[in-house]
Amino acid sequence: MYGADMLADDVRRCLIEVCRSIYLRGFVSATGGNLSVKLDGEYFLITRSGSSFKDLSDKDVLTIDQNGKVVKGAGLPSIETPIHLALYKTRPDIGSVIHAHPPYATAFAATSRPIPRITVQASELLGEVKLIRYEHPGSEALTKLCVKAFMEDDVRCALLESHGVLVVGRNLWEAYNNLDLLEETAKIAYLSLVLKRGI
Ligand code: 13P
Ligand code: ZN
Repeated sequence: MYGADMLADDVRRCLIEVCRSIYLRGFVSATGGNLSVKLDGEYFLITRSGSSFKDLSDKDVLTIDQNGKVVKGAGLPSIETPIHLALYKTRPDIGSVIHAHPPYATAFAATSRPIPRITVQASELLGEVKLIRYEHPGSEALTKLCVKAFMEDDVRCALLESHGVLVVGRNLWEAYNNLDLLEETAKIAYLSLVLKRGI
C-alpha cells in the first residue's frame, strides 16, 4: 500500500509536469488532449475529462481500473479512456498513451495526408505513422480503428483524421519524445513542401 501509493504520487507529479510542457509547446490548447500512464497491470492514471493541460493539478489526474472505473479522484475520466485502455490491452509493451492536437501534425491529419518521414531522425526513430480515418471522438468505432493501427509492436504514432494525434511509449518520457518528434517531423515536412514549391 505504502510503496504503491508513493509510486503513484511520483508518477502523478511527472504526468502533470509533462502535460504542462505539452501545453507550453503548443501541442494542445484550451481543454484539448488527454494523457495516461500504466501504474501496474491493474491501474492507470488518466487526465480528467475537460481538464486543461495549462494548469493541471492533482485533482485532474484520476486513478482508474482496467474497466475505466474511477478508483481514486472525482469527476469523469477522459472521453478517450476506451482508446487508452484498449491500447494497453493490445500492446503490453505500452506504458503511456498521449492524445494531443499539435498544429503541424494535425494539419496533415486534417487533410488526410500521411506525414513523409524525410529526416534521418524520423526514419530511424519514429516508425510508420498510421493514418486513422475519422470517427467521432470517444466512439467505439474510433477505438476499434486505433487498436487496428497500433497492432504491430513498432507503431508509435498515428494521425486521427480531422482531429489530432495519438502517440504511445514504453513510459511517459518515451511517449512525450515520440510526440515531440512527430510534431517536429510534420513541421519540417510542411516547410520542405513549401520550399520545394518555391514560395
Ligand atoms: P477529454 O477532455 O475528455 O480528454 O477530451 C479532450 C479531447 O481532446 C478529445 O478528443
Ligand atoms: Zn482530441
